[in-house]
Amino acid sequence: MFSLFQAKNNCYCAFCKTPRRIYRKKNISVMNVVASAMAAIVLMFAIWQEFDPRAIIAFVVCLAISETFVQIRWRLSVVCRTCGFDPILYTKDPEAAATKVRAQLDMRKEDPKYLLAKPLNLPAIPAAKAKALQAKEKGKLVSRSI
Ligand SMILES: [Zn+2]
Repeated sequence: MFSLFQAKNNCYCAFCKTPRRIYRKKNISVMNVVASAMAAIVLMFAIWQEFDPRAIIAFVVCLAISETFVQIRWRLSVVCRTCGFDPILYTKDPEAAATKVRAQLDMRKEDPKYLLAKPLNLPAIPAAKAKALQAKEKGKLVSRSI
């Protein structure tokens, strides 16, 4: 039971600094391989009632499913649920990540559920830089009033 809690890691969002949890596990472990082997053996006896080489295929399929599941779970846990910041997308395409955060913050602004919520601790932009940015692209800055 304790290992369930250890697999998760406490961290802070890189953008809004909200404390949150991320799955530390990115790929399957020995435990998943053992579980897949057990599932394949159970399936083998359920289908053929004897040792059958086709169980290897079932084993590989089980491995593939658990690997996909662990990776998707990790990928989803990386994205901040409060502000929508996605660090992996940010390293590849900062513009797309900014668009996603903006959409999430706009949604948050309209949702009455967040009216009384604690305001997000968004990074402040120095006045001089904000002016320069505003001159470059009008109205595209993320509002800090949320
Ligand atoms: Zn965040």
